[in-house]
Amino acid sequence: MVCFILPTHVLLELAEAGEIDLREAAKAAVASAGMHARRAAVTALVQSLGVEAELMPPPQERKFVFDAQHGVDLPGVLRRGPNDGPHADKAVNDAFDNADRTYDFYRDVLGRHSVDGNGADLISTVHYRRNFDNAFWEGTQMVYGDGSGKIFKVGSLAADTSVVAHEITHGVVQFTAGLVYSKQSGALNESWADVFGSVIKQHTLGQTADQADWLLGEGILGTQLPGRALRSMKEPGTAHDFDRQPAHMDDYVDLPDNGDPRNDNGGVHINSGIPNKAFYLVATSVGGHSWEKPALIWYDALATRLQRNSQFKDAAEATVASAKELYGDDEAGIVRSAWREVGVL
Ligand SMILES: [Zn+2]
Repeated sequence: MVCFILPTHVLLELAEAGEIDLREAAKAAVASAGMHARRAAVTALVQSLGVEAELMPPPQERKFVFDAQHGVDLPGVLRRGPNDGPHADKAVNDAFDNADRTYDFYRDVLGRHSVDGNGADLISTVHYRRNFDNAFWEGTQMVYGDGSGKIFKVGSLAADTSVVAHEITHGVVQFTAGLVYSKQSGALNESWADVFGSVIKQHTLGQTADQADWLLGEGILGTQLPGRALRSMKEPGTAHDFDRQPAHMDDYVDLPDNGDPRNDNGGVHINSGIPNKAFYLVATSVGGHSWEKPALIWYDALATRLQRNSQFKDAAEATVASAKELYGDDEAGIVRSAWREVGVL
């Protein structure tokens, strides 16, 4: 499944509640299913070619933004390349600037060049379809709809650093652990994207863990999805009226991954609330900037310990091990306590 920022189950619940047209929701759901095979193929290819990375040329740090001109053909028409100044179209600049921030964060803070670790071009497409209320990573690039004003404010998706960093992090996950987008491994994939979405926003704003809002997509929701954000890492389940993320394993939502969009690939956008809360607890316990020790621990676990089928318990053990190796027993203890508090350990 393509990693949409707005889960399809929320779309369907909105349709059932009469807030949006069911036919539109169904069309969007089908569009996502169609790209499933493609993404899986890209991931498999990347992993089979992993050993070739050293033969690649040095990192180029290139970002490109294309315009789908309200159609569905990707990437579309090139609007801004790596050496171009700002474009007249705000959406183009928003996607470019947020990709740039995310690239710089991965390079400067984590020592990683682009999604593949080898300077792969960051390709974004804006103006995907007409009034399209979503953004996604489709296996090779980011794609942003304009938003209709109903679910997302017009122009808000590419302009939100947490949304853009979330989508690009799906690319990083694909090239590292390759977490399978289903049930617990899929919820970990979603959670790591949320963690770096929030951390990169905090880095951009210069906030400490205590100052941060811990929201993904703060203030971008439209009139028919009442709420303050798409997700809350601090208080999962409270971001908007249709948010049913748990914050503890006692409330884990055990859904089948049976292709029914209502079931969200086995709850990948739902149960991600549990590991999200664990990271929030670690960051606030450690104190200071979340992009220092906490993000380095989470990144080390992703890049060196997690695997395609890792479960929540594996993620807990991986982050404890990374904390111990990088910083020692005190930090490992903080990480272990956080996973205990959310019921995983
Ligand atoms: Zn996602």
